[in-house]
Amino acid sequence: MQSENTLKIKKNDLYTVTIEDLGSDGAGIGKVDGYTLFIKDALIGDVAEVKVIKTKKHYGYARLMRMITPSPDRVEAPCPVARSCGGCQIQPLSYEKQLAFKQRKVEELLTRVGHVSDYAMHPMIGMEEPWHYRNKAQYPVGRDREGRITMGFYAGRTHSVIDCRDCAIGRPVNGRILERVQQWMEENRIAPYDEGSGRGLVRHILIREGFHTGQIMVCLIINGKKLPHQQALIGALAEIPGMTSLSYSVNTADTNVILGESAVTIWGQPYITDMIGDVKYQISPMSFYQVNPVQTEKLYRTALDFADPGPEDVIWDLYCGIGTISLFLAQKAAKVCGVEIIPEAIADAKRNAALNGMAGVDFYVGKAEEVLPEKYAKEQIRADIIVVDPPRKGCDRALLDCIGQMQPKKVVYVSCDPATLARDLAILQEKGYKVTDVRCCDMFPHTVHVETCALLTKASVSEA
Ligand code: SAH
Repeated sequence: MQSENTLKIKKNDLYTVTIEDLGSDGAGIGKVDGYTLFIKDALIGDVAEVKVIKTKKHYGYARLMRMITPSPDRVEAPCPVARSCGGCQIQPLSYEKQLAFKQRKVEELLTRVGHVSDYAMHPMIGMEEPWHYRNKAQYPVGRDREGRITMGFYAGRTHSVIDCRDCAIGRPVNGRILERVQQWMEENRIAPYDEGSGRGLVRHILIREGFHTGQIMVCLIINGKKLPHQQALIGALAEIPGMTSLSYSVNTADTNVILGESAVTIWGQPYITDMIGDVKYQISPMSFYQVNPVQTEKLYRTALDFADPGPEDVIWDLYCGIGTISLFLAQKAAKVCGVEIIPEAIADAKRNAALNGMAGVDFYVGKAEEVLPEKYAKEQIRADIIVVDPPRKGCDRALLDCIGQMQPKKVVYVSCDPATLARDLAILQEKGYKVTDVRCCDMFPHTVHVETCALLTKASVSEA
C-alpha cells in the first residue's frame, strides 16, 4: 500500500533505505516511513543511501548514491552494458531469485487484485540456460562521435546508438551478420540513418533465427525506396550457414515504429521455418512470433495440458497471432477457431495450417471482442474451451461478457501481464468460473516480465 508524503520528503533529501521489491520497470522499491521511493539500479535486499530526485503525492523517485550493504542475491552481470542498455533490467539479480521474484509478483496480484484463492500454483518454468535465448533482434544503426558506424542499442532515453554486438540474450550469429552489413555499408558508401536530419539509409537490422531449423532471416529497414548494391549485400550474407531469407522493408516515416508496412525479398525465401514441438511455422519479417522458442514450447504445452481437449471438443483461440497456439491445440481437439486483429497474421496462420496438413482449423480477422459476440449471436457457435492470449492490456470487457454467456467448460488464459490477468480473472470468477491451476513461465529471463498460464473451470464442474 502506498501512503501519503506526510514526512514532507523533498528533493535532494538523503535517506538510507532497504530495497523490498521491484517496480514494473525493474527499479528497486524502498520505503521511508511508508512513503514509496523508486530507485533505479537498486535490487531487492540492497541497503543503500539514496537521494530524492522527484516527489509525487503517493510516491517519489530517488538516485542510488552509495551502497551500504549489497543484496546477498547480487551476482556479477555478465553483460558489460546491462545498465546502460535497459533491455535487461534485473541481470544483477541471481537467476533463482529472479524466478522467485516473478512468481511472488504473480501470486500477490492474483490474491490482491484477482481475489483468487485456493488454486494450485505449479512450479515456475525457468530456463536451464537463461542466455542467448532471443530468436529475434532489431539493431538500430547510427554513428558515434568520431563518425564510425555503430550498431547496438539506443542509450537510455536518447536515440544515439551505442555499439554492442554480442548481446548476452541474443543469438551468437548476430555479431557476424552485423559485421558483414557494416563492411557492405563502408565499401559501398551507404550511410546509416540520422534521425536529426532525416538523411541516411539504413535504420535497423532485423535478424531472426529458427531455433530448431537454424534458418536465418535478415531484413534491412531502410529510409529510401530501394536498396542499392543488393548483389554485394547478398554476396556478403548468403554464405553464412543457415541464411535463408534476405529482404528489406521501406520505412521513410519519422517514427519509432521499426518496420515498414511490407518487406521485399531480395534473396532466398520470403520466410523462415521453425518448429514448436511437432508443429511447423513459417514466419515472415512482419509476423509476431514468440521470441524465446525454448520457453514457448513449454508454455504451449502448459496451455495444452490445462485445456486437455477431448477429440470432440471445439476450441476458440482468441488473439491467435499466426496461429501458433491454435495449431498446437489442433493436434488434440476436433476443431480450433482462431481470431486475430492483424490480417497478415491470419494469412500466415492459414498457410501454417495447410503446411501442417491440419484440416479442423478456421481463422477469422477481427477484434476478438467483436467477432466472438457476433458469431455467438448470429450463428450460435459453441465453444467447449476458450483460450485467450491478449496483449498487455488484457481482454476487452465485451469479450469477457461473451465468454460468460457462452459458458465454455474451461477457459485457459495465457497472459504477458499479471496485473491485467488478475483484473480479468476477478471478472471471470463473477461469471461462474473458478481458477484451479496457475503456472508461470519465464519467457524473458533478466527482464521483469513474466508469462502466466491460468486454468478456469466452470464452478459447478470443478465442484462436482
Ligand atoms: N497467441 C499468439 C499471439 C499472442 S500476442 C502467440 O502466442 O504467438 C497477442 C496478439 O493479439 C497479437 O498478435 C495482436 O495482434 C493481437 N490482438 C491485439 N488486440 C486484439 C484484439 N482486440 N482482437 C484480436 N486480436 C488482437
